[in-house]
Amino acid sequence: MTRQDTYKHKGLRQQMCDELRRKGIADEAVLQAMNEVPRHWFIDGALDAFAYQDRALKIGCEQTISHPSTVAMQSQLLGVLPGMKVLEIGTGSGYQTAILCKMGAKVYTIERQKGLFDKTRVLLADLGFRARCFLGDGYRGLTEVNYGPYDRIIVTCGAREIPSALMEQMKEGGIMVIPLDGGEQGQEMLRITKNGPTEGDWKVEKFGAYSFVPMLDGRAMR
Ligand code: SAH
Repeated sequence: MTRQDTYKHKGLRQQMCDELRRKGIADEAVLQAMNEVPRHWFIDGALDAFAYQDRALKIGCEQTISHPSTVAMQSQLLGVLPGMKVLEIGTGSGYQTAILCKMGAKVYTIERQKGLFDKTRVLLADLGFRARCFLGDGYRGLTEVNYGPYDRIIVTCGAREIPSALMEQMKEGGIMVIPLDGGEQGQEMLRITKNGPTEGDWKVEKFGAYSFVPMLDGRAMR
């Protein structure tokens, strides 16, 4: 399938990046990746006109592609460097996955909904993003094959607690970015640095309120 990336799309993408800069995104590698990856390829054609606005959009299976500013913030907090192994929980549309690939990471991504998993795996491969996609419950991390430990872990659904399996699958010195339920509505974005094996060694920093679809546990939905 040929996909278009018109001058109009490119112009709107540049404007989106200018807006991200105004909103406090300063990591040039993140901004460059977001300027290069066509977000409109990751959403339904009917929503094309909204692709470069700072909003979440429906991607089917009751899920959403995150706001560009959320993708930018999570990517910035993650501090990805080329060659790092990154585990992502919640592949969804694959847009965040593509941004991490563009930044040079080796990405392993888990999605629990079969419909999205099937569609996005094909899309990412078609577009030349070499992420490894898995169907499963990301709450438990990647269990069927062991590519770990990971330098970075990014969770793109709202979690009720910090999944201990994910902390175990991360390298010492590694960083996890995860939206954690805050009690009422929405989540608080956390960056956790694993300075040692036990919870007392973890450094936890908070970066404000966000709204994500919930992380569901239990088996993958087929
Ligand atoms: N990064 C994605 C976000 C999609 S929304 C994007 O920008 O498109 C979050 C995704 O997490 C949904 O697709 C949802 O199905 C998935 N999800 C929820 N709980 C999960 C779990 N336990 N394991 C893996 N994926 C999960």
